[in-house]
Amino acid sequence: MKLEGIHHVTCITADAPGNVDFYARVLGLRLVKKTVNQDDPTVYHLFYADERGSAGADITFFEYPGIPRGRAGAGMVHSITFRLGAETALDFWAERLGAEGVETERADGALQFSDPEGLRLELAVVDVPDEPLVADSPDIPREHAIQGFDSVRAYSRAPSASAAFLEQGLGFQPRGENEWELRGDRRGGRYVYDEAPEERGLGGAGTVHHVAWASPPDELDEWRHRVAAAGASPTPEIDRFYFKSVYFREPSGVLFELATIGPGFTTDEPLETLGERLSLPPRFEHLRDELEPVLTPLPDVRPARR
Ligand code: ZN
Repeated sequence: MKLEGIHHVTCITADAPGNVDFYARVLGLRLVKKTVNQDDPTVYHLFYADERGSAGADITFFEYPGIPRGRAGAGMVHSITFRLGAETALDFWAERLGAEGVETERADGALQFSDPEGLRLELAVVDVPDEPLVADSPDIPREHAIQGFDSVRAYSRAPSASAAFLEQGLGFQPRGENEWELRGDRRGGRYVYDEAPEERGLGGAGTVHHVAWASPPDELDEWRHRVAAAGASPTPEIDRFYFKSVYFREPSGVLFELATIGPGFTTDEPLETLGERLSLPPRFEHLRDELEPVLTPLPDVRPARR
């Protein structure tokens, strides 16, 4: 049994229209699902990914209109790294982000910047055999496009306290000091700890809520048992309609989820029009007439697609 790298990363936005503009238009990801927060259906849960809405490329945002900015601290993911295919893509992105007024820093083989709400992002040239997960965007050449997740970086006060749980509970392989890789048969993802700042973390706009790791659909229950045996307290299996999920905290305090690969985003709308209409899981469908008028209007950043 192996987990297949990162499934999705879920973050918080106070500004859904600005979020769509940045992730779909500027970064060129596809808004593959426009749905509601299943714990509060009056606000959005937005999903951006590659063209097919694949696990491994899926960054998602809970919308909390007007929530103040948070800051990452111990027990929180503080930075998300996406893959690029080649060094030349770094120049393309430095120029594109610069033209949008986004400040970038060039590191070795990578470009670092923040989204409009202060969430730290990185684009990195990474040599892995995983299939590139790419979205079509009119003004981003395919060879420069974002190819899915590489890694997430979290703050911890005691990374070594997480080692046994990560390795024996979830099958991570150590890859260096405070760095692990979770690699399955098809994809992998890395998890890295940095020294936590003194200041306490605070959830809010521009922070990461949780990171989900990808489970083959028929193995979630077995993983849930392994997680419990390794000392964590997993939730019961929750049906999120697009996938099934189990949540727990790893020893450093970071909220982890295990999510099934599938049924996926085409379960309630066709691939061609993913994300265009508000999708409501069946148990929320009866609320459609009430919800549509109260949800924040979003820009259409892909008007010329069909
Ligand atoms: Zn999730």
